[in-house]
Amino acid sequence: MQIFEELSHRGHEGLFFASDRDSGLRAIIGVHSSTLGPALGGTRIRDYPSVEDALVDVLRLSRGMTYKSAAAGLPLGGGKGVILADPSHDKTESLLEAYGRAVQALGGTYVTAQDVGSTVEDMVVVSRQTAHVTGLPVDMGGSGDPSPATAHGLFAAMRATAQHLWSSPDLSGRRVAVQGVGKVGMVLVDLLTAADCNVVVADVDGEAAVTAAAEHGAKMVPVDEILRTACDILAPCALGGVLNASTIPQLKCEAIVGCANNQLLETTDAERLAQAGITYTPDFIANAGGIINIVEELKPEGYLWDRAIIEVQRIYETTATVLDRARNEGVTPRTAAVALAEERLSRTTSIV
Ligand code: NAD
Repeated sequence: MQIFEELSHRGHEGLFFASDRDSGLRAIIGVHSSTLGPALGGTRIRDYPSVEDALVDVLRLSRGMTYKSAAAGLPLGGGKGVILADPSHDKTESLLEAYGRAVQALGGTYVTAQDVGSTVEDMVVVSRQTAHVTGLPVDMGGSGDPSPATAHGLFAAMRATAQHLWSSPDLSGRRVAVQGVGKVGMVLVDLLTAADCNVVVADVDGEAAVTAAAEHGAKMVPVDEILRTACDILAPCALGGVLNASTIPQLKCEAIVGCANNQLLETTDAERLAQAGITYTPDFIANAGGIINIVEELKPEGYLWDRAIIEVQRIYETTATVLDRARNEGVTPRTAAVALAEERLSRTTSIV
């Protein structure tokens, strides 16, 4: 990989490699932008097939965080950390502490949080070595698990999408298909059933799907059927890349509003969805609840769920702005969302 070409191509400010012989740490921290504030983004722990795969991931994810925070109007830049390790075998306290020292060495340019493969408890261990960590437990003054806030934000995005498409934010009677009922998906199912939606779920973890059905009244379908389930709204809440050239022709939904990061395999899939007549609310607009929640933790007055949830509800207005703009300008919602984020970034740059 031509590292400097890659960095400048996507506008990254820096890439930092950390290694610790004793703990076996191998980590990469990507700072895409600190224009609007510290580059905040979670730490992904994954047994990457190669260093190049980890690099691609950290570059892509850190840039995504810049757009997510900018579009949400947050005083944050975009960053991401990846630790090249198997979270089920290699995650030791000494590894996490070594990672904490690497984060600390960046002096607050990068602020970390929990992500796939890491937990709130892991962030407590990281916090022994650095102050630049968020998403700590509530009893430590942190905001805890961001997933409930992400689910509430997703629900707000769905209501705004419903208003845009069907002239009412009321979701009652709407059929919503949720792919993945994990930390976010399960809370979402709870919110949807409370709003009298007709909810269909699938999860590779059969127990999770059974729980969603038994406790929340959702209907289960096999994992390979969920994407082609006829519904008003499809909510991808499991994996990235699920919207692609082979899945899009099979979709039977009017709208897509989900929390999974990077749902589009390629950016051109946004056009494919538009051509198929499907309204796609961009993932980084719909799933910003977690990061909005975390920002509350950074405020001098400290974290309060009641205040955080009011901020999370602003996703309704952001979604409406993006979808209206897309309709008015004849572009995809993804293009409209990227333009919104870039305007915020350039406005701040010109003021400074
Ligand atoms: P999670 O791991 O708790 O849940 C994901 C669920 O998806 C699991 O139950 C898993 O079994 C299921 N799953 C995996 N592959 C599947 C498949 N092929 N079909 C059906 N189900 C499948 O994760 P989460 O925290 O709920 O996050 C879900 C997604 O949202 C992830 O992509 C994450 O990056 C993104 N996201 C999460 C947050 C947050 O606050 N947790 C914030 C922003 C974005």
